[in-house]
Amino acid sequence: MSGKFADIIVDISHENLDRTFQYRIGDALEGRVAVGDRVLIPFGKGNRQIAGFVLEISDKAKFDPARTKEIISVLSDDSLVEQKLIMLAYWMKTRYGSTMNRALATVLPIKKKVRAVEKRDVVLLLGADEAAQKLEEYRKKKTTVARARLLEELIREGSLDYRLVTGKLNISPATIRALCEQKVVDVVNERVYRKTVTEYSRQDGPKLTSDQQRIVDEISGQYRDGVRDTYLLYGITGSGKTEVYMELIDQVVTAGRQVIVLIPEISLTYQTVMRFYKRFGDRVSTLHSRLSDGEKYDQFERAKKHEIDIMIGPRSALFTPFDDIGLIVIDEEHEHTYKSDQMPRYHAREVAIKLAQLHNASVILGSATPSVESFNAAKNGMYKLYTLDKRAKGAALPKVSVVDMREELKHGNKSVLSADLKQAIEGRLLAGEQVMLFINRRGLSGCVACRSCGQSVKCPHCDVTLSRHRNGVLKCHYCGYEQSDVRECKNCGSKLIGAMGTGTGTQAIEDMIRSVFPYASVLRMDADTTRQKGDYESILSAFSNREADILVGTQMIVKGHDFPFVTLVGILAADMSLNANDYRAGERTFQLLVQAAGRAGRDSRPGEVIIQTYQPENYAIRSAITQDYGAFFEEEIGYRKLLSYPPAGHMLAILVESREENEGASYAASLADVVTDGIIGRVSVIGPTAATIRKLKDIYRQMIYVKSPDTDILTSVKDRAEAYCDTNRKKDVRISFDLDPVNGY
Ligand code: ADP
Ligand code: ZN
Ligand code: ZN
Repeated sequence: MSGKFADIIVDISHENLDRTFQYRIGDALEGRVAVGDRVLIPFGKGNRQIAGFVLEISDKAKFDPARTKEIISVLSDDSLVEQKLIMLAYWMKTRYGSTMNRALATVLPIKKKVRAVEKRDVVLLLGADEAAQKLEEYRKKKTTVARARLLEELIREGSLDYRLVTGKLNISPATIRALCEQKVVDVVNERVYRKTVTEYSRQDGPKLTSDQQRIVDEISGQYRDGVRDTYLLYGITGSGKTEVYMELIDQVVTAGRQVIVLIPEISLTYQTVMRFYKRFGDRVSTLHSRLSDGEKYDQFERAKKHEIDIMIGPRSALFTPFDDIGLIVIDEEHEHTYKSDQMPRYHAREVAIKLAQLHNASVILGSATPSVESFNAAKNGMYKLYTLDKRAKGAALPKVSVVDMREELKHGNKSVLSADLKQAIEGRLLAGEQVMLFINRRGLSGCVACRSCGQSVKCPHCDVTLSRHRNGVLKCHYCGYEQSDVRECKNCGSKLIGAMGTGTGTQAIEDMIRSVFPYASVLRMDADTTRQKGDYESILSAFSNREADILVGTQMIVKGHDFPFVTLVGILAADMSLNANDYRAGERTFQLLVQAAGRAGRDSRPGEVIIQTYQPENYAIRSAITQDYGAFFEEEIGYRKLLSYPPAGHMLAILVESREENEGASYAASLADVVTDGIIGRVSVIGPTAATIRKLKDIYRQMIYVKSPDTDILTSVKDRAEAYCDTNRKKDVRISFDLDPVNGY
């Protein structure tokens, strides 16, 4: 009797993932059944023959092997979408560590009955002159910017998909209703409007520059020759990477295959998405995290039915059930949001490459500041590297200068605004141009601390300091805990307690800017001002419509939009993110500074960037000032090699969470011993030690980091850890894994 058993699922639906049935793999099929295969099995009392998918293969029988039924045959059908997704889930489970169920739940769409929605469109009822007049009217008032935005698009397009309007354009149904009542627009269902209004039509892109064309020709030539590869497109900001993607996408789609485009959530703004809609018409669909499960499922169904060929979205768009993917594009591939923060903690770049193998597709990674991983892979010949080093519209890169804030202080300027930056802002305001002020807030808490004993006020549930908001409330940014302001130190009773590092939060900067430039109008964009759906869009479009002179914000403002009237970008406290306790701090700082600088002078007006810093000699800041990626990379990879950090080696983070701190610590200690037993020479271990955030939502956190040049060794470490936990279960202790972590703990 064969010693192998297969767990089989008969219906691929999310709710039923737990309901697997075990079957025996008979001698005749031994070695021929693999995870993901579709097989024929006898089912139920009558042994009706039905098809199922193999989710897992093991040596252990769950029930009496003599009474376990046997698989009848393997129904191979490589074209099946589910089969590929199950194989992908299995790969993710093995590489990143999680249960098969969680891996499946990550890749398979949630099946929920959703009411089939009829396709509806918003159409413009006004003639050209009337519409232009209305638009002027709406633009004048802040309360009608959303109307103006919709009208602007409708003037260009005539009609728009209703879901596009409420989803991508972020315009509320109430706004549409108001416009209907004023007889400016009408909402019609598709059948009605198809007869009267032309369809959303495809448009050609601009004529490519010779640099863009050369890259397109090389990649598409290889594609036609049957070469499938991973390409890194390293192109400075505004160099026309998106046009290169679109041209290649066009060719793949024309050849009848499908394309997935990943972009970070934050750049999933309507400007970017509209470029795709304009180019490809309604063969494009988008996903974003605000869609409900039902809406997401609906999009996936459209993909399955071949109603669309291109899916654009954040990392989860990878799991779009296309049956023949030809190309996967990852824009801004360096973004840390491509790494999942839930088990399985996968990296979208790695999953995309695996998925591309399953479909015989190519992958294009694009960035102005590639991740150290990708650039290293390109240097080692694992990816093919292409470079765009000029801006597409011929605009020059901005002039970057640096202000040493230590010198400012020596000259008696205690403000966070240097004399140079202040003067430059004045100049722009006089010229009627716009300014962006970027505050590098990462790692900064704006905490409240005692000036006598140094104790800070912490969240009772998390090991992090609370930050004070303008209304005096102290808040925890991890769990949402709030309390009123404190008047005296709990530790020493001193009344000298107050917010530290004041003047560096976005709110404080906004206040300061308003008082220094009382005649300027200022907008702020940060986590606080973008809570509600649509906030982000409305701030950006207000700024884009020149309703404000200065936009103050966090890394959120770094991405996405082209603002032709922005000619000055000021970067305050450039080094703030260097102090983060994380081996990627230098990389992140460099990326943020270069991306922020890239916002200036996107159009014909020349741009200027002023970087304020306390550490002008630091390599990340130095190379950001000279915009020299190569120099940055050489220093960074040297440091990673020295300390065997990724990509010079690999690292598995094991997180041990517990309600009782001591229990977690001792569990972590024995776990570390067990998993490294006998392989100590081949791996290096850091910890166990308390995580940087020792406690989160009342759960204590211990970390073990295991480093090795070989991911297979780390996989075996992970398997041993899982086995240990299986046999030594503790009710209040939980472990999880993160391979090559991107985000700190
Ligand atoms: P990136 O993705 O590298 O930031 P984009 O593709 O967004 O660059 O291009 C930057 C700007 O240049 C956009 O406004 C785009 O429309 C324009 N552009 C890109 N390529 C061309 C081209 N070949 N001809 C004219 N304009 C172009
Ligand atoms: Zn005190
Ligand atoms: Zn908290």
